[in-house]
Amino acid sequence: MRDDNCIFCKIIAGEIPSKTIFEDDDFKVVLDVSPATKGHALILPKGHYADIYELPEEIASKIFVLAKKMAVHMTEKLNCDGFNIIQNNKEVAGQTVFHFHMHLIPRYQEDGNGEKICWNHRNFSEEEFLDIQQKLNGMQPSR
Ligand code: 5GP
Ligand code: ZN
Repeated sequence: MRDDNCIFCKIIAGEIPSKTIFEDDDFKVVLDVSPATKGHALILPKGHYADIYELPEEIASKIFVLAKKMAVHMTEKLNCDGFNIIQNNKEVAGQTVFHFHMHLIPRYQEDGNGEKICWNHRNFSEEEFLDIQQKLNGMQPSR
């Protein structure tokens, strides 16, 4: 449930100071210490799960409901013009703290970040698209 070497576990336990903006039984939401914009916050599940692969479905099912409520609340209070929700998994995808977290990033006209949080668009052939579709299609819907 807790990893003694994890900075976010220490924040959740109150052993490292943080600026909390919301807390319930499952989550703590804190301001990011190195924010992209005014109000950039992190949803932290209280249990230690390294990434989305370890996150239990029960927690996963609650997190986007909270993200939605936080987005509405933050937009109202901060008067931002838009909102990014970002969640990185594994080093190759930009994760630097290995305790699952979801970024809540209020966006403002001219906040200096460029409109889209960035990736390059690639070209795939029809054959490659079909191959990818074939690999991915077929997961059973949850009951
Ligand atoms: P990641 O790159 O793993 O998706 O995001 C990690 C985030 O955690 C970064 O945006 C970073 O600024 C933030 N962060 C790292 N250490 C601390 C800390 O001690 N306190 C807070 N509030 N945020 C932190
Ligand atoms: Zn942790």
